[in-house]
Amino acid sequence: MSAGPAKNPSVVTRFAPSPTGFLHIGGARTALFNWLFARHNGGQFQLRIEDTDRVRSTKEAIDAIIDGMRWLGLDWDGDITYQFERAPRHAEVAEALLKAGNAYKCFATPEELEAMRAEQRAKKQPQRYDGRWRDRDPSEAPAGAPYVVRLKAEQEGETTLHDLVQGDVTVKNAELDDMILLRSDGTPTYMLAVVVDDHDMGVNHVIRGDDHLNNTFRQLGIIRAMNWEAPQYAHIPLIHGPDGAKLSKRHGALGVEAYRDDFGYLPEAISNYLLRLGWGHGDDEIISREQAVEWFDLGAVGRSPSRFDFKKLENINGHYIREADDQRLTDLILPRVEKNLGHSLSSSEQALLLQAMPFLKPRAKNLNELAENSLFLFENRPLKLEDKAAKQLENTSGSLLAILRKTLGDLPEWDAESLEKALHDVAEQADLKMGKVAQPLRAALTGRTISPGIFDVMILLGREESLVRLDDQLSLSPTHN
Ligand code: GLU
Repeated sequence: MSAGPAKNPSVVTRFAPSPTGFLHIGGARTALFNWLFARHNGGQFQLRIEDTDRVRSTKEAIDAIIDGMRWLGLDWDGDITYQFERAPRHAEVAEALLKAGNAYKCFATPEELEAMRAEQRAKKQPQRYDGRWRDRDPSEAPAGAPYVVRLKAEQEGETTLHDLVQGDVTVKNAELDDMILLRSDGTPTYMLAVVVDDHDMGVNHVIRGDDHLNNTFRQLGIIRAMNWEAPQYAHIPLIHGPDGAKLSKRHGALGVEAYRDDFGYLPEAISNYLLRLGWGHGDDEIISREQAVEWFDLGAVGRSPSRFDFKKLENINGHYIREADDQRLTDLILPRVEKNLGHSLSSSEQALLLQAMPFLKPRAKNLNELAENSLFLFENRPLKLEDKAAKQLENTSGSLLAILRKTLGDLPEWDAESLEKALHDVAEQADLKMGKVAQPLRAALTGRTISPGIFDVMILLGREESLVRLDDQLSLSPTHN
């Protein structure tokens, strides 16, 4: 195995979400890739909240992003940068660009610009600012007229971006118009703010969704005008739905808290799944955080969009549930169990849940299932049977349950060995396969057709509870009398 890419401790990456919504699954993957790249290199990972859109940015979204990052274990270095607070610095850079002659004031009114665009539309030309104030003197504008500051973008030549994922991408400079840097109220645009903040924060690797690829060429214009060093870029393909279409809510374009709270996934499963979505290390599916840090490189990020696959995510989650500590799982499902039952568990019931965990966790793909599968331990008698379990009992010969009840009731010891022997004896007596005895017994004891192993069930329930549950079924179902 190769030693992997050389480490570069001077790497600084960042995650720069706009808090206009929660930390959605695509954003979580971008954050993870930035975090891994920084940690792999022994560099820094920073968090910047891009809250310049004062109308759409909310405190709730900021909290959800921070909470989601913590839940996923994506810790950042230093303090969080809030972009809005840096508006004076953004304006300062715009001023510097004006002074150097790399930006200019544009006094075109909104009506004028709309007329310009209408004409371009009519002529089937691309709609872009035509540079009408590029070479005019501000003194030509009416006194006190509002203006925006625009970048005096290069019009000749072309720009080639050496993207670490996309490879070389070239755009003709003439295709980009003179974009706005400062609005007429003096507030910075996204393009300006991102460039200034990345520069000031020392960010030298920008890893983000490839929906930002076009913006990069505009941002490079500002960087050149300021004579700053450009960061390296890695534009990662977006996540698509299983059908190849853009990821929609139905496909899982939800906040990570939905994955945690509604679907019951573990953070290490989400991380592992997101890592594999667009990045690979041979055929490895299960990759620990430590291995990911060791192995992660941008060269192995694929160029085509990845497809979100809930089934795969469930399988990975099932793996991590099996690996997880019993006490942790017990704590995680307790609220779900209590909600389901409609009452809280006593401390002895909680202890039973913990005791049952090794037998429950091999069968669950998410925490909801895990909680669901544990309910039989606490449900009130007589158990409400699931349809399949009821069918199972209906199809069981009348005397079988009675023989089971008697044999089990006569057992001097209630341990795995005695129980196993008892069931064998009953199977032999009734001339049935072991499964044909275990299935109705499972249905009677748990009300379900899926549960931990039948001996584990009986031990967890204990002698008394197991026997009365059998009695319930014997007395409830006339076919068994
Ligand atoms: N705030 C931008 C977004 O949420 C990201 C900016 C960037 O990564 O450069 O899409």
